[in-house]
Amino acid sequence: MASGTPLRPSSFDTFIGQNHVKEQLNLALESAVMRDDVIDHVLLAGPAGTGKTTLANIMSSRLGTRCVETIANVMRKPQDAANNLVNLRRGDILFIDEIHALPITVQEYFYTAMEDYKINTIAGRSRRAVTVNLQKFILVGATTNEGQLSSPMLSRFGLVCNLKPYSDQDVGMIATRGAKALGIGITDEAIKLVVDRCRGVPRITLRHIKRMRDSATIMHKSMIDLESAIHAYRVLQIGEHGMTNQDRAVLKVLSGKKHATGIQGVSSESNIDQETISNLIEPHLLRIGAIVRTPRGRLITKVGEKINKDIQQ
Ligand code: ADP
Repeated sequence: MASGTPLRPSSFDTFIGQNHVKEQLNLALESAVMRDDVIDHVLLAGPAGTGKTTLANIMSSRLGTRCVETIANVMRKPQDAANNLVNLRRGDILFIDEIHALPITVQEYFYTAMEDYKINTIAGRSRRAVTVNLQKFILVGATTNEGQLSSPMLSRFGLVCNLKPYSDQDVGMIATRGAKALGIGITDEAIKLVVDRCRGVPRITLRHIKRMRDSATIMHKSMIDLESAIHAYRVLQIGEHGMTNQDRAVLKVLSGKKHATGIQGVSSESNIDQETISNLIEPHLLRIGAIVRTPRGRLITKVGEKINKDIQQ
């Protein structure tokens, strides 16, 4: 049963939390609309699944322009960037996900595009180098790793927005809204469980709600209640504090060690690749206080040892 509430928020009013970001973007957008101008380029920094793509789409719908979405690892050469840039109309958003992963030659190519709305490219059969004037577009870069972006590129973003961790209250509202969008109710007890297990990430929250709706359906329930939520988490093998099998494997590697362990050591002992450890597992273990990071590597905390012990029982 569909409810008329879309799963992805389409305006700042329905985008939950991140008030500092919404305020910054709203001010830029409303003043640009009043001046009949285009806003500065925007960098959105924050973990995966926290609303960066959604914000880019909200901006383009406020401006009544298009949002052209791409990802850095398909832009390997300057010509790939040129192909996107020449097709943009005034006020269109070019959204580049994981922008820090652009090769440096492509980042450099964007410098004049961002600053002067011009690019050099190769044209026609003669393959002559020509300068092309671009329409005044808006580059919206999304990054999970702002530090990896070259400083000349970073300095060309007029707006830099850092997404903050979502509070439990925000996540609870996202869960309630997500259930409504899926056409099902959810009890307060089930929401409490989601808040504990969704790692403070909206995308994960919505993924869990979908699986809970599956459980509620097969249990012939008209609402997601505690029983259907627990059933879904058992099937997903997600435990207290949102611990997954991979989180457990990393904690097990660190347990009992008095010395800090480097990422390579954790990776080879747990059989999990380094990127997954540093992008997905560690941020969560740090957030719940199960590990700390030192210059020599990571160490398990007392909280982490307790979680590890509870899991083994
Ligand atoms: P990102 O681009 O940062 O990886 P997305 O914008 O794709 O994240 O968001 C992932 C999912 O979570 C989408 O379905 C989106 O609708 C939802 N979502 C993200 N942030 C919010 C929020 N603040 N309020 C409601 N839903 C959100």
